[in-house]
Amino acid sequence: MQKIQLPLLCLCLLIGAHSFSQQITKKHLPIIDVHVHAMKVDTGWSREMCPWFLSDMPGGDPNQPPPNLNNTDCAEPLKAANSDQEFQDALIATMNRLNITIIASGDATIIRNWQKAAAPGRVIPSIGISSSEEMSVVAFTDSLSSGFYKVMGEVAPQYEGMSPSDASLDAYFGAAEKLNIPVGIHMGTGGNGMANIMSPKFRASLGNPLLLEDLLAKHPKLKVWVMHAGYPLADEMIALMGANAYVYVDVAGMIWSYPLAEVNDYIKRLVQAGFGKRIMYGTDLMMYPKLLETSLGVIENASYLSFDQKRDILFNNAVRFFRLDASKLQ
Ligand SMILES: [Zn+2]
Repeated sequence: MQKIQLPLLCLCLLIGAHSFSQQITKKHLPIIDVHVHAMKVDTGWSREMCPWFLSDMPGGDPNQPPPNLNNTDCAEPLKAANSDQEFQDALIATMNRLNITIIASGDATIIRNWQKAAAPGRVIPSIGISSSEEMSVVAFTDSLSSGFYKVMGEVAPQYEGMSPSDASLDAYFGAAEKLNIPVGIHMGTGGNGMANIMSPKFRASLGNPLLLEDLLAKHPKLKVWVMHAGYPLADEMIALMGANAYVYVDVAGMIWSYPLAEVNDYIKRLVQAGFGKRIMYGTDLMMYPKLLETSLGVIENASYLSFDQKRDILFNNAVRFFRLDASKLQ
């Protein structure tokens, strides 16, 4: 027995020592995901989803039942989490493994739970508002002043049939400007069939990044990033970023939903236009934990990006935009 146990023990020690040294020397380079949704898991929502599922837009007829826009016909469909705990456990495990910091908006209880489970400072709370009916300006300003929320977003007036420069939202942006809170605004994409099947107030035209110009002119100190990078309006996005030197974008949502070649073309176009320092990584994480890896893979495998450009998108640009202390996130 002794003769067998000893070599086994040695092997275990060796493996143990090896993986320990790997943990020390091979810590993943830090990543910031600027676009995560802290939501309660809807247990009735158990359907699977293939990434890049909008690759095939079916035809159809308004007098017939709406087409099914989801696609589960791929090698490895993503599975939705079955409970809040399962979602949290999967998220925190991936954050630890890949050294990720997240900016999370949504349910405050969920955000607090994630903060308790994650390493300190790795979950940055964000508060979203898309219409004045959701919260008064006073209540909103109080929430920002409490110190819990460091970011304002996701602001998505497009789904309400409104421009981001709509007068009814102005005081909210004014509060964020005064308190030096960065703001993320949904512009551009909504997914296929959004206006006539999913969300009747949605208008594609209200996702035009140029609609931000009046807001930016009125609030010159406001730090704004365009969520979903204004996809698919690349020309307007480039024009806005050119004219407004402090506007950044994130690539969330579009990175895992539209056809992969199209996603890469879009990101490449923005980089090619000179905005590699103003593109931030984001997932738009919802109930599918594996979206983190799926989305990261797009940037990691982008042959048109250099190592430094990938590091900018995955980390450096967000550190600069949100004025974070990079030394605490390594
Ligand atoms: Zn959005």
